[in-house]
Amino acid sequence: MTSAPASNSTAHWRHLDAAHHLHPFSNTKSLNAEGVRVITHAAGSYIFDSEGNKILDGMSGLWCSSVGHGRHDIVDAISDQLKTLDYYNTFFKTTHPAAAELAAAIAEVAPAGMRHVFFTSGGSEAVDTVIRMVRHYWAAMGKPEKHIFIARRNAYHGSTVGGASLGGMKPMHAQGGLPIPGIVHVQQPYWWAEGGDMTPEAFGLHAAREVARAIDEAGAENVAAFIGEPIQGAGGVVIPPATYWPEVQKICRERDVLLVSDEVICGFGRTGEWFGCQYMGVAPDLITFAKGVTSGYFPLGGVIVGARVAEGFIEHGGEFNHGFTYSGHPGGCAAALANLRILHGEKLVERVKSEIGPYLQARWLKLAEHPLVGEARMVGLIGALELTPDKARRAKFAQEEGTVGLLCRDISFSEGLVMRAVRDGMILAPPFTLSFAEADLLADTAVRVLDRTYAELQARGWLVAA
Ligand SMILES: *Cc1c(COP(=O)(O)O)cnc(C)c1O
Repeated sequence: MTSAPASNSTAHWRHLDAAHHLHPFSNTKSLNAEGVRVITHAAGSYIFDSEGNKILDGMSGLWCSSVGHGRHDIVDAISDQLKTLDYYNTFFKTTHPAAAELAAAIAEVAPAGMRHVFFTSGGSEAVDTVIRMVRHYWAAMGKPEKHIFIARRNAYHGSTVGGASLGGMKPMHAQGGLPIPGIVHVQQPYWWAEGGDMTPEAFGLHAAREVARAIDEAGAENVAAFIGEPIQGAGGVVIPPATYWPEVQKICRERDVLLVSDEVICGFGRTGEWFGCQYMGVAPDLITFAKGVTSGYFPLGGVIVGARVAEGFIEHGGEFNHGFTYSGHPGGCAAALANLRILHGEKLVERVKSEIGPYLQARWLKLAEHPLVGEARMVGLIGALELTPDKARRAKFAQEEGTVGLLCRDISFSEGLVMRAVRDGMILAPPFTLSFAEADLLADTAVRVLDRTYAELQARGWLVAA
């Protein structure tokens, strides 16, 4: 008989986890067979696992930890808040100081003319709120037939029924009877994979014109809004050509279609601007946010509402039959306020724009010289590498898509760096507090990971184009 594993051992937690815990976006059967990694603590730019490994958190958790791990200012702010007011709702003609102060603090950093905030518990709820708010706005303005949303293929807008429907992820639509009606998906501005012989600039315009075509086909009188991430995150850090967003904005304005910027990843500094739409040079009507607003210390998301929708909604909308028990949770609001104090106090958005961002970009973009890397791209502190067996052709691997990416990701983990694989590319989004030495370590590790991946592909005979 084998003895039971110690109560503080990897085996113990793996056992409990495999027996009872169903993981998001996971294949439970293969995960249980492989054994899950147990993260026990984190500090600064590092996470630590139950085997004692120290790993550079190149993904900020899941795009969240902008100010780094273990910031006691935020923990204390949450704790103080919960000791004072643990919970109350914001439904019944009530508010609380942290919710009111956070709404004002967000309005302060939001793009010009965006002065109102609706709170949710996360990004998916924010996206669902947009669907209901925008349709309700148009109905209140006497145009209830304006209900269709235009979104992009390979976009990620969350995992609720509404969010997953607006998103353009085929594997998500394949489960649970999605998407819901009233959504049209169009070309994504992903030059590397879909740009063909066009220059990036020409392809950006081409992809934007697909938005015009979709609106015109549905009839602008039936179209409520266009939604897009300034930079697609989960879709593989797809940075659109500079021509794309201004053209999309022009197309939407000409057709009286609202513009929604899903800033759950880009918002609160990731691109070096407070919001990704500012980096792209456009002014949306609504912005969704979550993740970086609290740096992940507490779940909170929401929608920033611009003047046009806010005025129509407030003047003509009557009661909005929508909200969440945890809309404006005191703990989340306190976390966000403390996180914003750090972003301001340490000038972290400026740091991403003009210090650590350009520093890491210089090293990251150089990885394109590696024989395995077809393209290296990065804006602010969000980037990607496209792995390819044939750079000139931007070719895919003959192996099933994602195989090489997973191999590279596992090698990266074993080298002490979290990079995430999307298809056969690697993506990166480290904390804004990353030091210059950590940026060097990250880049040096990435080179080693690419070398090891290349050697492994060679050994397996996988350096073959599809
Ligand atoms: C993560 C994400 C969401 C969903 O947020 P959750 O907090 O996981 O519900 C929505 N949109 C974008 C762009 C995201 O990256």
